[in-house]
Amino acid sequence: MAESIAEAVSRRRTFAIISHPDAGKTTLTEKLLLFGGAIQLAGEVKAKKDRIQTRSDWMKIERERGISVVTSVMTFEYNDTVFNLLDTPGHEDFADDTYRTLTAVDAAVMVIDAAKGIEPRTLKLFEVCRLRDIPIITFVNKMDRESRDPFEILDEVEQKLALDCAPVTWPIGRSKTFCGTYHLATDEVRGADTQERLTKVNDPEMASHRLPENERDTFIEETSLAIEACKPFDRKAFLEGHLTPVFFGSALRNFGVRDLINALADFAPPPRAQVADIRTVEATDDRMTAFVFKIQANMDPNHRDRIAFVRVCSGKLERGMKARLSRTGKQMGLTAPQFFFASQRQLADTAFAGDVVGIPNHGTLRIGDTLTEGEPLVFQGVPNFAPEILRRVRLEDAMKAKKLKEALQQMAEEGVVQLFSPDDGAPAIVGVVGALQLDVLRERLQAEYSLPVSFEMSRFSICRWISAESPADLEKFIATHRGDIARDLDGDPVYLAQDGFSLRYESERYPAVKMVAIKEYH
Ligand code: GDP
Repeated sequence: MAESIAEAVSRRRTFAIISHPDAGKTTLTEKLLLFGGAIQLAGEVKAKKDRIQTRSDWMKIERERGISVVTSVMTFEYNDTVFNLLDTPGHEDFADDTYRTLTAVDAAVMVIDAAKGIEPRTLKLFEVCRLRDIPIITFVNKMDRESRDPFEILDEVEQKLALDCAPVTWPIGRSKTFCGTYHLATDEVRGADTQERLTKVNDPEMASHRLPENERDTFIEETSLAIEACKPFDRKAFLEGHLTPVFFGSALRNFGVRDLINALADFAPPPRAQVADIRTVEATDDRMTAFVFKIQANMDPNHRDRIAFVRVCSGKLERGMKARLSRTGKQMGLTAPQFFFASQRQLADTAFAGDVVGIPNHGTLRIGDTLTEGEPLVFQGVPNFAPEILRRVRLEDAMKAKKLKEALQQMAEEGVVQLFSPDDGAPAIVGVVGALQLDVLRERLQAEYSLPVSFEMSRFSICRWISAESPADLEKFIATHRGDIARDLDGDPVYLAQDGFSLRYESERYPAVKMVAIKEYH
């Protein structure tokens, strides 16, 4: 019998891993897939990463059809739970891509290097999760190496993130003597996960026998202190984002990975309700809804097709169905939706809320788009971040201006760069969050459109979306600042400022005009 929507929804977990580079995200991803049976041999994810070392390498890889598509989302099933792990780019210059991806998950695993604690990138990504009330499970990695005292790590999480910690497991031993995890509530001991050992013991004393004699007392003291002094796990506080369950382990040596998978299955929420303009959509609603959070060009210069990654929010997405695209009101056939596994993709016959499917299209779909079975609703909240770098594109062959315009429009629809067309008719300005994005743009314009370009400084350095309660106030501002106004891809007006001083000056002079650095789509 076909599975009901409610059943399918209840066994799905959609999550991302957030961490500072080098904390072990790739290794952990690989081990999650390995334990989840999605890959046969650990090393596949790694192999990909190792090849993506330098910029030029990265570009080459990107051009090879499919590779980066495959790593965008990984689906695996473990003990009847379907996990969708959404990957986020490692490099800070692609941060806006990461933020958008975080709008499509229901939970996040925060990986911390046990020797380094909370690092800058972890903090930033955590803040994005907090803005969206995404519950966090913490994995303290690299316990097999010299590490900080576990209490010190918990303390740092509480202080820096203002997040209560509930240690669920405790490390047995440290660095060389690290040999497993002890479950504080159930008195179970687990060794290296691949051996599947889960032993019930009576108390910490019994668990301590795995350690050399001189370390046993410390372990017993620590566990009793952890039970007494730390908050117990409280699911409500976790789901509301006030408390994080903490697990210790070593992704490299297979410790704690199974604890973590079980925690995702047991604690992490099933697909959440999503807010749309006209109503809130429950994951178990019958009718299909979905939104696009990422576009990936397929990198085949002969076929300019792209994959739009959509997160299903409700109902059942079935191959062959017709969907309504809210932005245009037009119908589109979902003839070849795809699922992604560790190393291959496959046609998706049915997908439910929480699932991520790739929809090949030729530019019909944009980031932030909503698909429905006909209802004219629009999901809120895939954000657009004001670029920090603004440049003019200089074309070597001026005859190709029209082609460049089209190419930039396509790149902007994919989210590679943002594009702003000045009201005074001046050439378009591209905006990016990180400089690497400009390299990607240049290489892709060359490779896919045969357009050699360079970038010039623009006289603007800041960009803000503008709006006002009364249209007259906005019109007045636009009319008096014509040379500094441009339109984004959706036609929404932005104010381009030369520097922070002019921005402050203008916003004080025109208090009725709201100037914002984050635009939520539509
Ligand atoms: P990422 O940048 O967060 O994706 O980190 P990686 O997974 O690539 O790991 C960075 C480095 O730390 C690599 O050399 C890994 O082999 C190593 N590493 C990851 N997890 C562990 C661990 O649990 N213990 C030890 N000793 N090394 C680890």
